[in-house]
Amino acid sequence: MRSVEYVVVGGGVVGAATAWNLARRGAEVTLLEARELACGASGGPGRRGVRAGGRDLRELPLARRALELWPELDGLLGAATGYRRNGLLNLYDVEIAGVAGWQSLAARAQAQRAAGVPSEIVERDRLDEMQPGIADDVRYALYTPHDGTADHPATTRAFAKAAEGLGAAVVEHTTVAGLAPDADGAAVTLELATGERLRAGRGVVLAANRSTPRLLRDAVGVTLHLWEKATQITFVTAPPGFVLNHQLGHGRRSLSVKVTDDGAVMLSGGRPGGWDPVAGVGTTDPDVLRTTLADLAATLPALAGAEVLAVDNSRADTSTIDLIPVIDTLPGLPSVVVAAGWSGHGFALAPAVAEALTTWVLDGDRPYPLRPFTLDRLGATATGSWPTLTGP
Ligand SMILES: Cc1cc2nc3c(=O)[nH]c(=O)nc-3n(C[C@H](O)[C@H](O)[C@H](O)COP(=O)(O)OP(=O)(O)OC[C@H]3O[C@@H](n4cnc5c(N)ncnc54)[C@H](O)[C@@H]3O)c2cc1C
Repeated sequence: MRSVEYVVVGGGVVGAATAWNLARRGAEVTLLEARELACGASGGPGRRGVRAGGRDLRELPLARRALELWPELDGLLGAATGYRRNGLLNLYDVEIAGVAGWQSLAARAQAQRAAGVPSEIVERDRLDEMQPGIADDVRYALYTPHDGTADHPATTRAFAKAAEGLGAAVVEHTTVAGLAPDADGAAVTLELATGERLRAGRGVVLAANRSTPRLLRDAVGVTLHLWEKATQITFVTAPPGFVLNHQLGHGRRSLSVKVTDDGAVMLSGGRPGGWDPVAGVGTTDPDVLRTTLADLAATLPALAGAEVLAVDNSRADTSTIDLIPVIDTLPGLPSVVVAAGWSGHGFALAPAVAEALTTWVLDGDRPYPLRPFTLDRLGATATGSWPTLTGP
């Protein structure tokens, strides 16, 4: 049986970035990918948002670090990630900009700034200068100037290639069928679908996203409730003269608007199309398309009636009940770290997650930005039962 120090399972952006960070720190690492790099949530058309604005507050330390790392990546990896920093305007219309809406906006801006994420409230006059064409009922926007977008498959491949350049083995078309920890939990044997076995003498990073619950259940009996959600995305033509200066979001609508490399306008925002989790195949939903186009017309009237170029629902991410990821070691098994459950927004965080994970794996202490993302909080590792309450 072959033996290496560290095995990373999963060639999406999280696995590839972790392999690179481990290799950078001098570790011997093998990255195993069941199919091709970026064939899961880290692949597909369009671009992914690289944003800190609007995130769950528990993700902000990671998001802040990620926004520091993103502008450096092309240079560090020696390849283009397609990263562009063009800022995010999250729009607040009359329905949400009343007193409570205003207060929540101010509270969010303050919390983001306190976490080191530049954030400012933009009033209507300035908004018109920053982004013409926004619907009249929008009163304010929360502007996060350091947010941007990147090319997700290119980024994933750039991480993997740079890892290889540092001596990591990147092996595609190799499925991990099971994990068998040693009795003392210090090392893990990976059973491959080919029947071969590979020993990870120092640790395993499980970045297999959709397969994670099955691998955990079979290997260590941990029940991790993640579910798969494919997000439907739409591409429309921008009318002549229309320029999107920033990414746009909407405080009340499931709408995110970005511009792609070829000048099309990409619409996403989290609405799911159909998804078969067994086959891993998505289908587009015409109702979702209608709602998305209606939201677009209500937010950016200049784009009402824009020609639809393509609709895609081919990729699924995993979600948790509280919509933040799980990044944790397994109970009694400190040599296995799990990173999944990104809930539709893991791409932007990946450089910082991978850096923090690597520190944890190599140095032994969970870095503080990873503290909120425990398995415990989901009950996955809970033992015992509630005390029985008796009463009159
Ligand atoms: C349509 C859509 C839009 C999104 N938009 C954004 C956005 O704007 N901003 C943002 O931050 N995030 C966004 N996300 C989320 C983001 O893309 C994901 O959170 C991120 O790509 C997850 O990366 P990953 O490496 O964990 O998983 P994946 O990319 O899914 O990679 C997991 C890999 O593991 C492999 N694998 C699985 N099982 C095994 C096994 N047993 N053995 C070996 N390999 C295995 C798979 O083949 C796969 O390649 C979006 C997601 C989708 C689907």
